[in-house]
Amino acid sequence: MATAQDETQVPEWQRQLEGKDPQEVLAWGFQEFGDKVVMACSFGGITGMAMLDMAAKVNPGVRVFYTDTDFLFSETHELIETVKHRYGINPVGYKSRWTPEQQAKEFGEALWSKDPDRCCWLRKVEPTGRALEGNRAWISGLRRDQGSTRAATPLVEWDSKYEVVKLNPMALWASKQVKEYIAANNVPVNALHARGYPSIGCTHCTRPVKAGEDERAGRWTGFNKTECGIHVPDAKVEAAGAKKEQNTPR
Ligand code: SF4
Repeated sequence: MATAQDETQVPEWQRQLEGKDPQEVLAWGFQEFGDKVVMACSFGGITGMAMLDMAAKVNPGVRVFYTDTDFLFSETHELIETVKHRYGINPVGYKSRWTPEQQAKEFGEALWSKDPDRCCWLRKVEPTGRALEGNRAWISGLRRDQGSTRAATPLVEWDSKYEVVKLNPMALWASKQVKEYIAANNVPVNALHARGYPSIGCTHCTRPVKAGEDERAGRWTGFNKTECGIHVPDAKVEAAGAKKEQNTPR
């Protein structure tokens, strides 16, 4: 668990880390939080893969988790297997408390097509909370140039949603830098990138993008939604889902 002291130290840590490279931020995080820091990786974007490569080089024992929504592409599962062999790490998948069948029964068929915020809460936001239990900090692959909701991402922040410190080592990097790092270090990436999917989530909510479109334009087409909710401190959907959660654990 993060401590109250962790929260109060964040402004000082922000000053210390200002302008640092991702590798420096990662090294600092592993030094500061020891085995109480965990890395999130979706295996659906190149930034997370570049960051995972850096982290494994800085700390071969890095702990990694992902949310296994039950709706991931087979290419995403294949990449996870590749990563296990390449880096000798074992990413842990956290599933929803609801099977797809339970979700359909309780919340309606094809929830992602009617209420994707709730579906994401059930299958991503809540499982992430379980993945972070017992940790003081987590590491995400957010970049400022991924859109307006991420434009102010700091290198380190207090995550009020999950009440832990959050490191964003890639925040200052541009897409071009990530691509160059991937090529220079022969980092494995999701095979769907080569088929027009720059950002990959669930099968139901991901499409290829057209030339000139934003890299996250293929997510949640038809909805005014650009984030799954993990990185958004919004309690509204969470509260509604939490009420149900007490009734039906998986
Ligand atoms: S991305 Fe789509 S299918 Fe996946 S959890 Fe969110 S709404 Fe559900």
